[in-house]
Amino acid sequence: MTEIKLVRGDITRQQADAIVNAANSSLLGGGGVDGAIHRRGGPEILAECRALRASRYGTGLRTGQAVATTAGRLDADHVIHTVGPVWSRQEDRSELLASCYRESLRVAQELGARTVAFPAISTGIYGWPMDDGARIAIRTVRETAAAPVGEVRFVLFDEQAYSEFESALAAQG
Ligand code: ADP
Repeated sequence: MTEIKLVRGDITRQQADAIVNAANSSLLGGGGVDGAIHRRGGPEILAECRALRASRYGTGLRTGQAVATTAGRLDADHVIHTVGPVWSRQEDRSELLASCYRESLRVAQELGARTVAFPAISTGIYGWPMDDGARIAIRTVRETAAAPVGEVRFVLFDEQAYSEFESALAAQG
């Protein structure tokens, strides 16, 4: 079974086989985790993203989907880019958020990754409430068997994020 670990910190400082990026559909960079990954990972990641845009993803990566590139100078083999949904009060987009975790794990599995580091997707610029984002993240990883992925590490940027993930993990086991 996949072990879930929680750590507080900056995801760009993690060592893992794959690091997940909370990207946007353009794949060409942005703020938050995305900006930090490109800054610290260097230009190789963006070059591969541009190549993806020029080939399979001409119109960008759809919300809930995931695709891998090199990790450049990060201490990882791969970055898995996934596009979270923007939070909406009118529409329940939970399934799209769950899909980000599922699809990222599927890509990690295809890559043979054993350790995968995730940020709290959609809970920053995209406005998803942290408690609900944490519940969906933990539940989806729990439900998704993904051998050889033995460790999923959630890297939480601040104390509030960490404590919401702690509660979700305690509630769901
Ligand atoms: P989104 O656009 O999907 O909301 P963001 O990158 O804006 O993505 O934020 C996702 C979450 O990641 C937020 O909770 C934010 O506080 C957190 N975050 C921002 N920078 C980092 C970082 N370097 N490492 C880990 N988490 C981060």
